[in-house]
Amino acid sequence: GFQALVIRDVDGKRKVGFEALTRDDLPDNDVLVEISHSSLNYKDGLAIAGSIPIARRLPMVGGIDLAGTVVESKVPQWRPGDQVLVNGWGLSETEWGGYSRFQSIKAGHLTRLPKGFSAAEAMAIGTAGYTAALCAIALEDWGHITPGEGEVLVTGAAGGVGTVAISLLAKRGYKVVASTGRASQHEFLQSLGASGFISRQELNEAGRPLQAERWSGAVDAVGSHTLANVLAQTKYGGAVAACGLAQGMDLPVTVMPFILRSVALLGVDSVMAPQEKRARAWDYLDKHLDRATLHALTTTAKLSEVPKLAEAILKGETRGRYVIEIA
Ligand code: NAP
Repeated sequence: GFQALVIRDVDGKRKVGFEALTRDDLPDNDVLVEISHSSLNYKDGLAIAGSIPIARRLPMVGGIDLAGTVVESKVPQWRPGDQVLVNGWGLSETEWGGYSRFQSIKAGHLTRLPKGFSAAEAMAIGTAGYTAALCAIALEDWGHITPGEGEVLVTGAAGGVGTVAISLLAKRGYKVVASTGRASQHEFLQSLGASGFISRQELNEAGRPLQAERWSGAVDAVGSHTLANVLAQTKYGGAVAACGLAQGMDLPVTVMPFILRSVALLGVDSVMAPQEKRARAWDYLDKHLDRATLHALTTTAKLSEVPKLAEAILKGETRGRYVIEIA
């Protein structure tokens, strides 16, 4: 048997704990993967330690990310020995996930491990980092945001999405301002490429519908009043890539930034993103994510530490990205 972190219904209550599984316990999908690494994301925190029922089928194995090696395959496109990863695709929601030594995966959910990354590095990036890449690409595709002209804002700066977004945008030549609730992290965020700071408190309360124009573009992992204020401070023709809800899922905004300043709100989803979009994001990461910077923002932990880390990420006490060693 092997250890897996399982979410179960026990007498009508969600219980999370480690269990010894065998391969026979796994779902009957196309490809059996031996997992070497998983990761920790905000959504993993919600699934393992939160009150929001992320898992929509029980029992459920947690972990929205995984990387490893194909052991068995029923389909010709994947062969034993292939190095693969999965980000999202309903893992930990409707599909069993990465907090397990082995997992059985649908063929269409697998992505080939990019040549430029080890399995551990791919999980250091994980869903949060690949989402940061989707956000940076969305801003670049918008087209009016030129490096060197004006400032780009990243909210939730010290988190997983935030740290990777700062690293990518700074490497692309943008002047990056980081919004964080933790002044203790300024030096660290500066080492990733942030060149200015704004406190979380300055953005997270109700503000006027239009405010002084400040940001050429922004990546927002926070939602709620923060996103509303960011939109109200975005310059004429700018854009905000929105991917998160760390403050809340509400959006108390008016149409004014859109109809008076042609500001664009670009929605970013990673879970069901098609493979072409994923391939582009991983290629972007390969080209523009400095590996030393990636290592600097990554902490490595064991599977046994996930329950504790899940609580910490929900409290906003974690920093950057976490690789979970499985093998
Ligand atoms: P994370 O590591 O916990 O980062 C979130 C950061 O937000 C925290 O580090 C903190 O940064 C800030 N924050 C926490 N609580 C806050 C609050 N109450 N008000 C304002 N800021 C707060 O999480 P993550 O894995 O990077 O994910 C970030 C968000 O993006 C989550 O909401 C997640 O669900 C979402 N997400 C969405 C997708 C998608 O497909 N759309 C993919 C990945 C993630 P500071 O301490 O620096 O302020």
